[in-house]
Amino acid sequence: MKPNEYDVAIIGSGIGGLCSAALLSHRGYKVILVETLERLGGRFSSTEYEGFKITTGALGIPTKGIVEDIYRQVGADFDVTDVSKSSLWIDGNWYEIPLKGQTSFLLSIVDAIGEEKTKLIGRFAQRVAVEKIKSAFRQGAEHGKPIDDRLSFRDWLKQYTDNERVLQVFATLTSAISTVNDFEYPAAHWFAYISKRGQGGLTNYGCATHGNIVLAKSLAEVVAAKRGDVWTNCLAKRIVVKNGSVAGIVVERNDKDTELSCKVVISDVGPKRTIELADSENFDTDYLAEARSLKATSIVVSMVASDKPLFDNKCAMLIAGARRIVAGFPVSNVCPELAPSGQHLLHLWGTPASCSRKMDVEEEIRQNVEDIKEVFPEFEKHGRILKMETHDIDDEFPAMRSWMGYDLKQETPVNGLYNVGDGVKPFGWEGLAACAQGAKLVVDNITKRVKPA
Ligand SMILES: Cc1cc2nc3c(=O)[nH]c(=O)nc-3n(C[C@H](O)[C@H](O)[C@H](O)COP(=O)(O)OP(=O)(O)OC[C@H]3O[C@@H](n4cnc5c(N)ncnc54)[C@H](O)[C@@H]3O)c2cc1C
Repeated sequence: MKPNEYDVAIIGSGIGGLCSAALLSHRGYKVILVETLERLGGRFSSTEYEGFKITTGALGIPTKGIVEDIYRQVGADFDVTDVSKSSLWIDGNWYEIPLKGQTSFLLSIVDAIGEEKTKLIGRFAQRVAVEKIKSAFRQGAEHGKPIDDRLSFRDWLKQYTDNERVLQVFATLTSAISTVNDFEYPAAHWFAYISKRGQGGLTNYGCATHGNIVLAKSLAEVVAAKRGDVWTNCLAKRIVVKNGSVAGIVVERNDKDTELSCKVVISDVGPKRTIELADSENFDTDYLAEARSLKATSIVVSMVASDKPLFDNKCAMLIAGARRIVAGFPVSNVCPELAPSGQHLLHLWGTPASCSRKMDVEEEIRQNVEDIKEVFPEFEKHGRILKMETHDIDDEFPAMRSWMGYDLKQETPVNGLYNVGDGVKPFGWEGLAACAQGAKLVVDNITKRVKPA
């Protein structure tokens, strides 16, 4: 093959692009991965900030599922510190939640609340309520009738309980998983998620020991080691389509445009941007309408530095009944290398009042800060806001490019053109695991259709 000829060109080095590139290289394809930024990884990367190593997006890395599988398959180093438990904050108290199977994990939260409430309202009534919710969950997650797609998760749950604390706990879980509020999110999609066993994430996860950038680089190294190329600071400007099929991409590198020829293009820049790159003329009207209707999700991230840990455990935090914050992670308790010596780092995630419209940034930040003061009483004495970030629905990097369950397919109407990433998540999958699973499906499809040159 000539220098500018490849089997597959991949645009964007997010987790979807990186997994695709590493898997294809491992299977003998000549691959080029182009990334417009200097840094690899997209929302699966990390940067230095005032001596802290902070993530550009994801922090909880799913372990014992598809993400780790891909690393193992391609022989890349998976440097993740496992976290084995979770804590739930509600009404000013922390409860430890053992990590078991996904459904049991959720049910054990109901149990934890049940036991506490038993002291107040009597054992029998509470037992009945807990059993009713448990059985509803088993039906929803395992062998129940299909749930009406229009029923929100909150309305589904209200059929079984009006206990405000139970509703708060599951509102938190819904937002923590899907980055959408429980009253906006369809119950059917929620159960599709918890019944998917392969993805890890809710019960098996960890934190990149030395930052996500190390994990991103380790997949890129697989490409470089197998006759492929990884070009950073390289913008893909156009996807070349001839007679309905992909023929190459045009990239700008060192102020010069270059055309690279290839049989297949995988785009990790989101379906809408992919259409712009390949020219909307090459897509049918139904596909264009579907792409236009994609709606992204939003999130507010608070990075809190402190001179003593504001939370003592080494586990993920679920925060129920607060104004906005739904989850957190005591980064430096788990991975001390990510904070300068003598300092501590806590990440907190808040779901905006609504994920259906642009957020009121000032108000969202104010509400998140109020939550921090309430949940971590020592914040005002020992902590400070290191950085707050908002990822809004129309930002280049939203929380997710599509609500879970409303994604586009990975295949496009253009022959040889695929999307990966969180705008094309397989049904029932979420976050990094979804992007990795999507990449695997695309690579399996390519392997069947195109032989390496
Ligand atoms: C704050 C936050 C917290 C999150 N927390 C978690 C979590 O804890 N666990 C979890 O599983 N998920 C989490 N997620 C979701 C997860 O980070 C994303 O779903 C995932 O990283 C998206 O990856 P992607 O493959 O879609 O690519 P992206 O990360 O979107 O990367 C796309 C890449 O393409 C590049 N690019 C764009 N245009 C071009 C072009 N024309 N030419 C070349 N390159 C281009 C971009 O620079 C970028 O690097 C979080 C997301 C956010 C924002």
